[in-house]
Amino acid sequence: MAELITTTAAPVASSAAADRSVDCGLRPSLCVARDVGGLLRDSGLRPTRQRIALGRLLYAKGDRHVTAEILHEEAMRARVPVSLATVYNTLHQFTEVGLLRELAVDGSKTWFDTNVTEHHHFLVEDDNRLMDIPGAHVSVDRLPEIPDGMEIARVDVVVRLRRKRVS
Ligand SMILES: [Zn+2]
Repeated sequence: MAELITTTAAPVASSAAADRSVDCGLRPSLCVARDVGGLLRDSGLRPTRQRIALGRLLYAKGDRHVTAEILHEEAMRARVPVSLATVYNTLHQFTEVGLLRELAVDGSKTWFDTNVTEHHHFLVEDDNRLMDIPGAHVSVDRLPEIPDGMEIARVDVVVRLRRKRVS
């Protein structure tokens, strides 16, 4: 079991959108399935038909982790006519306003998390699946010095798991 710690340093200026999801008690997935349009408006995004359709798909299943490819496939199955590029852009727009958290687990894939509260992840390497670890269950007590004018936006811990090898 190896451990990878990603530290995201962000400029001190705060993002105006960061606290808009508070309307949903910081857990958009808990309230969104009911009113995606309202959630988008509250977050400063125009509730276009595509955004609402993708938002419904995203949040209908509670907390989860998706890639653009996964969501695009679900959209195709639900007969929502969107391109992969649109799905990708939409996921990034949702992330910018705080409705999703972006997770860079490895270089090749970007995961988006509907759970925007503080927590960490197990990555099951055998099947490339992410599972939540509640924030309180990990402590990182030695962080490197960060550059002047920056502050730590958040610390992501990914604990990589593989099945035990039987010898
Ligand atoms: Zn998560």
